[in-house]
Amino acid sequence: MSDSHAVVVGGGIGGLSAALALHRRGWRVTVLERAPELREVGAGLTLMTNAMRALDALDLGSTLRSGAHGEAPGGIRDPRGRWLSRVDPADMLRQLGTTALGVHRATLHRVLREALPTSSLRTGATVEHVESDTDHATVHYHGADGPQSLDADLVVGADGLRSRLRAQLWPEIPAPVYAGSTAWRAAIAFPDPLPTAITWGPGAEFGMVPIGEGQVYWYAARNAPPDGHAPDELAAVREHFGGWHDPIPALLAATPPGAVLRNDIHHLATPLPSYVRGRVALLGDAAHAMTPNLGQGACQAIEDAVVLGAVCADGARGLPGALAAYDEQRRGRTQAVARASLRAGRYGQQLRNPLALAARTVALRLTPGSAALRSMTWCTDWRPPTG
Ligand SMILES: Cc1cc2nc3c(=O)[nH]c(=O)nc-3n(C[C@H](O)[C@H](O)[C@H](O)COP(=O)(O)OP(=O)(O)OC[C@H]3O[C@@H](n4cnc5c(N)ncnc54)[C@H](O)[C@@H]3O)c2cc1C
Repeated sequence: MSDSHAVVVGGGIGGLSAALALHRRGWRVTVLERAPELREVGAGLTLMTNAMRALDALDLGSTLRSGAHGEAPGGIRDPRGRWLSRVDPADMLRQLGTTALGVHRATLHRVLREALPTSSLRTGATVEHVESDTDHATVHYHGADGPQSLDADLVVGADGLRSRLRAQLWPEIPAPVYAGSTAWRAAIAFPDPLPTAITWGPGAEFGMVPIGEGQVYWYAARNAPPDGHAPDELAAVREHFGGWHDPIPALLAATPPGAVLRNDIHHLATPLPSYVRGRVALLGDAAHAMTPNLGQGACQAIEDAVVLGAVCADGARGLPGALAAYDEQRRGRTQAVARASLRAGRYGQQLRNPLALAARTVALRLTPGSAALRSMTWCTDWRPPTG
């Protein structure tokens, strides 16, 4: 067992996945999370086939499959409920060897957390800055006992969209920008069977994903100016989407007002020139915050984690080479996924022009679901490194 020590900054899905990938390779890990308690806020999540393969590599795939919900047939509808495109999960299974999964974020977070030694998790620890050279790194943080520091062979910056480590180490990169849409989401009890489906209207989208155990995750997004708030967010969703097809009104009727979260969508518009500086590697939203239109933000974070674990398998020996390999394997791919996600949002949720909407409807109707699936395999048909 190597005595190499990694400090992971941030205990979200990306940070916990990285900690687990390194722990499985014999690293000692410490996760520093600023929240007083380790938990995931947010509703549901779609884990695409690439993320399921990454989770299989972490030995968590079967646990998640047993508690969550394998995708039911789904696709894209218009606000009157007419199908524009359909995807058959059997096709997905045939083409990719595994299906996507709807899961509650809290479930995924708990499964990751429980796979890690409890002693590796420190909450109420806000990282202030990192010192790093070619030989070692020191993480300075503020914990319950005041300012503290930890030495590390490797620091993983998994501190999310507003990453402090990114701002410290790449000060020339502008902060994430508003993508033009705001999103609401909730996970609710809804026992009726549902397809996993998106509905596109002008400048708006509503999605529903069964997440197992009689629960459904729904999300709604609209073009809007930034920083909007409604006194009652559920009423704001009902006002716009309440007249859309069944079962959208029923889903909204079954939603307790306090269950609705609202977030403006931001993304890192200026791609980072590297994900590595000295002994610090960024991953997840810290490295490549993307719009959620392809449902890939967390999926890519989990992929990052598995690749980081694989390249660091030899412990701290040869770490600069390992981190160069991590950067090479992850940066091009994740930045391509981020660009594709932005394009998908412009063509999908954000499109408003009536002529463009009509052309999109025709294109979707003419494209078989299996072809639509094939067009995304460059992203979803990913395999973890072997060995
Ligand atoms: C509406 C919406 C829908 C989405 N749907 C999907 C989907 O279906 N599928 C998908 O794959 N992705 C989806 N995403 C994207 C996904 O949520 C993110 O990409 C993912 O959660 C990023 O994980 P992360 O661990 O990198 O960052 P985060 O989850 O943001 O975690 C960062 C952690 O770091 C902690 N932290 C921050 N700063 C510090 C500090 N200084 N010191 C210590 N701790 C710190 C934070 O408290 C937090 O716990 C969606 C996003 C949105 C907004």
